[in-house]
Amino acid sequence: MAFPTLSTLRRVAVPLAFGGNSEQQHTYFAELHRVGMVTQLLGIIAYSLTWLLMPPAFQPNLPYAVLALLGMLASLIVRYRCSTLPVLTITGACAVLTLTFGLRTMADAVHHASFWVLPVGVFMTLAIASIFNGGLSYLAVVAGVWWNMGHGLYPVNAGLPDQPWVPLMITVSVLFGLALNVSFSLLRLRNYHSRQELTRLAFQDSLTGLNNRRMFTQRAQQMHGAPRGGMLYFLMIDIDNFKNINDLQGHDAGDAVLVQTAVIIADKAQGHLCGRLGGEEFGVVYAGDRDAVRAFASALVDAVSHAFQSGHLVSISVGVAELDRGRELGHSYRAADDALYQAKREGKNRYVIA
Ligand code: GH3
Ligand code: MG
Ligand code: MG
Repeated sequence: MAFPTLSTLRRVAVPLAFGGNSEQQHTYFAELHRVGMVTQLLGIIAYSLTWLLMPPAFQPNLPYAVLALLGMLASLIVRYRCSTLPVLTITGACAVLTLTFGLRTMADAVHHASFWVLPVGVFMTLAIASIFNGGLSYLAVVAGVWWNMGHGLYPVNAGLPDQPWVPLMITVSVLFGLALNVSFSLLRLRNYHSRQELTRLAFQDSLTGLNNRRMFTQRAQQMHGAPRGGMLYFLMIDIDNFKNINDLQGHDAGDAVLVQTAVIIADKAQGHLCGRLGGEEFGVVYAGDRDAVRAFASALVDAVSHAFQSGHLVSISVGVAELDRGRELGHSYRAADDALYQAKREGKNRYVIA
């Protein structure tokens, strides 16, 4: 039998502990950071109040009580400053464990500590269900909570008629907490997927799957605005006599031509930005020199005119203009548009460089 490798173990354990891959963790971090801060702050307030309300004769062991408070404050500060989900999870665990350690110190000071094991344990188990993403990290912290509160005190309520309730309460609260934790984690997962879908819908052309105009323009702006980089060319691509295809063969055939043209453009433009600008118009931002862009435009025109030869004839015209970093992006768009119309006037199925 083959033993799982370290990377396999990590692939399984990380989602279980933190509830997702690194991209999902990034989203969860944003959602959990603030809610965890608030929960931790409430824990510190509750602990401080409990301490203040203890009568002088029942003050807790001072070094332990101070240690717990310092642990909670340190976790809060690290949590405030951290930027990854694993660190967030660890600071959350430290905060919960130092709080229960502090509460146990208080309970020990009142001589009937075992009475407090159940109420504090059940409360903590349920209260922290929402601040950990991933059942494994939650269960690990919960185990720490019950150990902290109960070590040396089990069996709780020994000899009393309600003694059997204790394991029942512990089991039920842990299962309840786990169910809450899993449903919160699933909600976050669903939220993550819906957001991804919305982003896809907002930035992808639904027919061809290419970048839509918004995404294309946004990325082109970024490339245009980048302070360093080689020469860039903007190609405006338009299918020739496309209206005829629609009129003679129907809208569905027109759509199929759009899809196939998009596939050809995406294939040829690998590594360069491309998108559908609208209707039967596409755009490419080509990174390279004049000779390279000339070869690229020529290959594109040839590829489209050959691709459709078996059925109806389809061709494209391409207008090419240099993306001038010293001028507005719109200037290059207009230059490419002018070049495109020159290609149309010269008989279509060709490219023209402005
Ligand atoms: P030219 O060679 O000068 O470019 O002529 P053309 O017929 O290609 O250009 P024109 O602008 O006259 O026609 C474009 C047509 O594209 C008109 C419009 O109905 C069609 N069209 C726009 N979007 C879609 C689409 O998503 N699907 C289909 N099937 N047709 C579309
Ligand atoms: Mg057009
Ligand atoms: Mg056209």
